[in-house]
Amino acid sequence: MEGCLFCKIINKEIPGDIVYEDDDILAFNDIDPKAPVHVLIIPKQHIPTFNDIDDPAIIGKITRIIQKIAKEKNIDKGGYRVVANCNKNGGQAVYHLHYHLLGGRELGWPPG
Ligand code: 5GP
Ligand code: ZN
Repeated sequence: MEGCLFCKIINKEIPGDIVYEDDDILAFNDIDPKAPVHVLIIPKQHIPTFNDIDDPAIIGKITRIIQKIAKEKNIDKGGYRVVANCNKNGGQAVYHLHYHLLGGRELGWPPG
């Protein structure tokens, strides 16, 4: 979608530090990491928010990729967090659906 930051990364119009890519999904390192491992996993289809997911099959695919990346980054056993922020109260800044994979340190709870 025109003007969307993450669509620009998908289309290679702006660079992304890509961790995984297939026909449907892209994963890349967050530009401002909040933990030693901070990867964003996104559908290539432009879906603005969690509210807009029509076909939940995409979430199944993303789940598999998150499991794979967590294992590759060696945070699977120690643990990690998967977060999807939705709209203003959820703290969403980029309106292209994305999952944060955070790990590599003990994470606080609850979120602020
Ligand atoms: P949100 O707050 O929408 O859930 O998360 C957006 C995330 O995108 C933030 O963690 C932010 O650091 C990351 N981000 C913003 N701009 C860029 C960018 O140009 N490249 C990358 N790799 N990450 C970005
Ligand atoms: Zn987009």
